[in-house]
Amino acid sequence: MTLDLSGKNILVTGGTRGIGRAIVEAANAAGANVAFTYRSSTETAEQLVQALGGDDRALALQADAASADDAAAAVQAVTEKWGTIDGLVVNAGITRDTLMIRMSAEDWQAVLDTNLTGAFHVAKAAYRPMMKQRAGSIVTVSSVVGVMGNAGQANYAASKAGLIGFTKSLARELGGRGVRANVVAPGYIQTDMTADLGDKVTDAMKGQIPLGRLGQPDDIAAATLFLLSDASTYVTGHVLHVDGGMAM
Ligand code: NAD
Repeated sequence: MTLDLSGKNILVTGGTRGIGRAIVEAANAAGANVAFTYRSSTETAEQLVQALGGDDRALALQADAASADDAAAAVQAVTEKWGTIDGLVVNAGITRDTLMIRMSAEDWQAVLDTNLTGAFHVAKAAYRPMMKQRAGSIVTVSSVVGVMGNAGQANYAASKAGLIGFTKSLARELGGRGVRANVVAPGYIQTDMTADLGDKVTDAMKGQIPLGRLGQPDDIAAATLFLLSDASTYVTGHVLHVDGGMAM
């Protein structure tokens, strides 16, 4: 079965690079209309819209993931343009890694605000239209670190573990309305976020991964597309680990 997203309107947060961009491109290739948010790179965002087939098929929205107003405006822009919002991918995320002893309250808050409270804002904005449609699929992008914890990432791990409880709660609240909510939990994926780790750390990570290699953004896009598509209509509240076997 090939995944077909024709006729679906999908919003991806943080869509101009890395995993978010791979999801945007894959959803577009599967036939969806795709809106994506970005923080500051307007030129990159406009180039991406053109690469996706122009204004009819794609929509770039400048929005800070940590802002409730921006989230509401982004969801409204999607429903105004295309009528419905069928899929939401909560992907935007940041790290501010350091050991707890050195972690400031600001390091903690910034990561929680973007990664977890940001998910609350955008899912809340999409909640009503999806409920009214009696259909929709929400996918949050957590992390293997949210499942296993990681030294030096207490803030990030807390935000990503929080996303799992949050998403399962959404699945329970919205199931009766035909809206699904699932989590994708990536392992170590080759993007800007992991680019500066250095060979020593990367090799140590590979030792913890049964498949013996880092993942690619397309690995996460494929799993996300499954959860957005009608191939997964009986799947909700699930945490799909895409991590080479790291967190089994
Ligand atoms: P990345 O840094 O390349 O991309 C993150 C994206 O989020 C960027 O487009 C960035 O602009 C956007 N973003 C960050 N803060 C934002 C804000 N306040 N408002 C709007 N957009 C914002 O990283 P990535 O590896 O592509 O990560 C994507 C998601 O996958 C993140 O949630 C990350 O935590 C998660 N993840 C990544 C890995 C990995 O190994 N790369 C592993 C597990 C989970």
